[in-house]
Amino acid sequence: MNDTPITGLRLGFDNSYAASLDGFYTPWEADRAPNPTLIHFNKKLALDLGLDPNVLAAERGAAIFSGNVIPTDASPIAQVYAGHQFGAFSPQLGDGRALLLGELVDTKGTRRDIQLKGSGRTPYSRGGDGKAAMGPVLREYLIAEAMHALGVPTTRALAAVTTGELIYREKPLPGAILTRVAKSHIRVGTFQFFAARGEHDRVRQLADYVIQRHYPGITTNPEPYLELFRAIADRQAKLIAKWMGIGFIHGVMNTDNMAISGETIDYGPCAFMDTFAPNTFFSSIDSHGRYAYGAQPSIAQWNLTRFAETLISIVDGDQDKAVGKLTEEVKNFRTTYMDYWLQEMRGKLGLQTEQSGDLDLITDLFQLMADQKADFTSTFRSLANLAADNTADENTVLTPWLPRWLQRLSVEGRNPSEITKYLLEVNPAYIPRNHKVEEALEKATNENDLVPFFNLLDVVTEPYNEKPNLKAYLEPAPPETAPYRTFCGT
Ligand code: AMP
Ligand code: MG
Repeated sequence: MNDTPITGLRLGFDNSYAASLDGFYTPWEADRAPNPTLIHFNKKLALDLGLDPNVLAAERGAAIFSGNVIPTDASPIAQVYAGHQFGAFSPQLGDGRALLLGELVDTKGTRRDIQLKGSGRTPYSRGGDGKAAMGPVLREYLIAEAMHALGVPTTRALAAVTTGELIYREKPLPGAILTRVAKSHIRVGTFQFFAARGEHDRVRQLADYVIQRHYPGITTNPEPYLELFRAIADRQAKLIAKWMGIGFIHGVMNTDNMAISGETIDYGPCAFMDTFAPNTFFSSIDSHGRYAYGAQPSIAQWNLTRFAETLISIVDGDQDKAVGKLTEEVKNFRTTYMDYWLQEMRGKLGLQTEQSGDLDLITDLFQLMADQKADFTSTFRSLANLAADNTADENTVLTPWLPRWLQRLSVEGRNPSEITKYLLEVNPAYIPRNHKVEEALEKATNENDLVPFFNLLDVVTEPYNEKPNLKAYLEPAPPETAPYRTFCGT
């Protein structure tokens, strides 16, 4: 299939960013994909977006999701941003390999960005080729959809296509494009771009846009920008607590990869932890473990501090006062985060009430898991059975801790079967296990065999629903000599 004649195709785009933020982007076009083929199309998400799946299936879908056919109501742009990457400020980043087609208002009334990732060079590509390889595209697809199924705010995957061209990394690889859906692609780095240039009016304009789009409750507040900071910090605290509750490691928490909406964005070298160890990191480019599992809350706070700096000029005409107020809010992040984390962890232990000893109970569990090198996901999953059987005498890694937990559960006043049912709904059986992800990507890339990818996608998008024939997806990889490493694979 090369050309599908589609003229005058409209998808219902309504492009507020392009319309109201002139100067925050460059109108742009996708490169032509020589031979686009649809790998996967997320029909259910399409329906949520108010799209007609029949319009987007097969060849027509391939044409649209490769950027070869641009709907007439789209207004494709590359967005500009800056960002701190591994602690160092890059004043000029931006969509170097992505194209925002436009926005759709979904069936629930939420405005969502539709973006092609891997669609070619833009004015912000710097040295890059603007392309994406099939492996990283499928990884983002899998992890984003798994995160969504796990109840974590995240960008979504609407479609993946191969472009029919080879792209060159360490070796030639099949090129691909991911169609990504996000509440928006505005990042901490978007604010940083304008703040760093001293364009305070644009910072204010962006803040006003963000309030309108993501935090509409704020408009009447006497200090809207301070309140905006607080609201964004709150969503970040909640998000990171979710990550911590499932053993997720983002891997590249640069400020340009922190979305203002509170969604997880930019799945590069991310991975889920198997053996519990707070200092776990996977990314080959994160040589010092800056973005390790246990560092994520403080990195979020560090990023929010950079964000706060961009708001100084608009929070208060008196700079010292502005700094004082924002500093206070940045400090509060720790407590906000701890509250969400406690809530998350109580849930994972089946606790609905709050008791003073809960923090110790949770901390001691993690200490035990670390000492025992316990598998994160299966340890939490096993709690459901342990609560049901009341088998404090059974020998598991949790044996030294179990009697305290069972004692604590008895205070809840619920019967064991209720608690078990609840625990099976909060602690997933399936996460995208690293070796399963690698297997799926490897088969797809090297053998053009998509079966492992589709199987894994099915499993991780129903993470709580344990099935007898899926045992292989429950276990961590057998221990290997070299630690698992992920690569940015841009
Ligand atoms: P990331 O590490 O994916 O968050 O990307 C960081 C920056 O590098 C962003 O500005 C990207 O647009 C840009 N970038 C990443 N990969 C490429 C590529 N292959 N071509 C051009 N720009 C890229
Ligand atoms: Mg990024």
